[in-house]
Amino acid sequence: MLPIHVAKFGGTSMANAESIQACVDVVERQENPTLVVVSACAGVTNRLVAISHSHTQTERQRLFDEIVDIHCQAASALPKENAVHHHLAQLHQLLHILVQQAPDALESHQRQKRDELLSFGERCSSRLFAAYWSQTSATNAEVADARSLLVTNNNFGNASPNIDKTREHCADLREQLNQGARVVTQGFIGSSEEGNTTTLGRGGSDYSAAILAAALDAEQLNIWTDVAGIYTTDPRICSDARPLEQISFAEAAELATFGAKVLHPKSLKPAIENGIKVFVGHSRYPEKGGTLILPEPDERPSIRALARRKNQTLLTVNSVDMLHATGFLACLFDILARYDISVDLVTTSEVSIALTLDEEGSQANGLSVLPEAMLEELREFATVTIEQGLSLIAVIGNDIGHFGDISPWVLEAASPVPIRLICQGASRHNLCFLVTDEQAENIIKKLHAKL
Ligand code: ADP
Ligand code: ASP
Ligand code: MG
Repeated sequence: MLPIHVAKFGGTSMANAESIQACVDVVERQENPTLVVVSACAGVTNRLVAISHSHTQTERQRLFDEIVDIHCQAASALPKENAVHHHLAQLHQLLHILVQQAPDALESHQRQKRDELLSFGERCSSRLFAAYWSQTSATNAEVADARSLLVTNNNFGNASPNIDKTREHCADLREQLNQGARVVTQGFIGSSEEGNTTTLGRGGSDYSAAILAAALDAEQLNIWTDVAGIYTTDPRICSDARPLEQISFAEAAELATFGAKVLHPKSLKPAIENGIKVFVGHSRYPEKGGTLILPEPDERPSIRALARRKNQTLLTVNSVDMLHATGFLACLFDILARYDISVDLVTTSEVSIALTLDEEGSQANGLSVLPEAMLEELREFATVTIEQGLSLIAVIGNDIGHFGDISPWVLEAASPVPIRLICQGASRHNLCFLVTDEQAENIIKKLHAKL
């Protein structure tokens, strides 16, 4: 019996009838039993998020109509009698009920309802994929509800998986796949133990696919997207970016963490822990090949790739009272932890500390990046400065800071732009620095030209 693979298709791959058919063709060519995990059709989750933020019923109705239209267009290449039309109509009806009751604002107690709302993108796209797959293959494809497979905690908007429970819930699915069943499930969504729908954070379908791959003891996870692998940098920034044949788990994890949208930052952990190979390829042009993420790639260049993360906030906390006093950092991090603030980079001097916070991450679960109450607590013992609209640029490679010196290269590319913060030394795989959003693209281009 061949080992199980998991194939994940992203939003652009699920955009319309033609692209969904291309994905089905990719899966049909796989020899191994394959669980398919799909994202919502392109643009659908953004509209669902907009519905959850919208205060006017007219706006919500317009967004709802656009979602229905995307799905109907995507289903249009299927015969009228295909059950998918009925399934979509049912799902749209349920969605419409939620749209009519959408909360006025995203209070924390509404986050549960918001996840229910956001789940409709994947619930609809998985039906579409199964319909096209059933039409192409001799065996009908089934939809498995991810909420009966992927068990998470109650952290709505950014839920964490319970791998052991998920593994238990996947036992039957494993059997089915081994017996040749064609099964599609949804990325991004899961269910708490109480049975409430949860989501794993924006872009979370990669993570879902990796969790399910681990739970199924899969051999390989194939991430099919709109680029032929992981590139030296985002090809949307540098048109001459080159695809990488191989990359290590450590480097890929850093790239993902520092903004390479091609992979969700959390998606590599389940793969690393369970020895699952990860491949990234183009769903439209699988013949172009792609990138293999491995524990030990053939080469370990000192600089492999560049990444950029936009919308960073720099928080500088300065307290002269803390000169020679102990416990400044402990006190600061205690406050941040109480407000559930996740800090990315930190630099310190005796009485000041500068740290970066990610705005996108906090938007994913609908929370404010800097709650006013938290700022008030900080201001009781320190001066607080906030700068927004910043980008983090990360140089990713191997043994950075241990052999050779990449700093002059970086400083030269950034010059004369002021670097607001720079970090090197914590990881052998990155050097990163902070500049304004407007200046970041140009600096990446200058750095990439020398790569
Ligand atoms: P999907 O919808 O398939 O999940 P995403 O849009 O989330 O796809 O991720 C794919 C996009 O990631 C690409 O279109 C590309 O612009 C972006 N990207 C950013 N950095 C990289 C990189 N280093 N290599 C490849 N793609 C990258
Ligand atoms: N549909 C979700 C999103 O747009 C999850 C994903 O696409 O990975 O964030
Ligand atoms: Mg993605």
